[in-house]
Amino acid sequence: MRLSLNSNTAGRRPQRAARALRDYLSRRGLRMTGEREALLRAALERGTHFTLDELAQDVMRSDSSASRATVYRSLPILVEAGILQPALVTGEVRRFELALGRRHHDHLLCRGCGRIVEFRSEAIERLQLEIAARHGFRLTSHVHELFGDCAACRPAGRARRAAVAAGAASAAASGVRRGAAGKRR
Ligand SMILES: [Zn+2]
Ligand SMILES: [Zn+2]
Repeated sequence: MRLSLNSNTAGRRPQRAARALRDYLSRRGLRMTGEREALLRAALERGTHFTLDELAQDVMRSDSSASRATVYRSLPILVEAGILQPALVTGEVRRFELALGRRHHDHLLCRGCGRIVEFRSEAIERLQLEIAARHGFRLTSHVHELFGDCAACRPAGRARRAAVAAGAASAAASGVRRGAAGKRR
């Protein structure tokens, strides 16, 4: 049952995306090229949290006339057409994901293994609107990224930080140990 649900979604989304791209291009007086089609296909196949470089590799594999430069130039078209959106924007590597047919969500990113977790919090969404309103802003969009160490990476991450900043890290670790050992006066 889950499988058929997925394949239904997968069946509709490419058509919706292709229509969105065609509409956008015709509004701008641009043509649907083989490369733009390959780019759309690659983005749909990747789905979530991919880098431009990963996308460019896919496009170049399926369209030998495409180059990294042309993919980089074409990507804003997919964003402006509402098909893709930036997912993770902090740091050296931006990541993108499909926007079409997806509910807004935010991300947790593990600094150790790069694991990305999607979450949605009504409380945070509401707070953001309230804060914006308090400052006279009407929010149009936001990117909310939380960085940390996932459960699997936590001991390793702690050890790595300790090696980099031995003094500060060891003081913090002993503080944690003291705190864990019991109550202090
Ligand atoms: Zn991790
Ligand atoms: Zn996401």
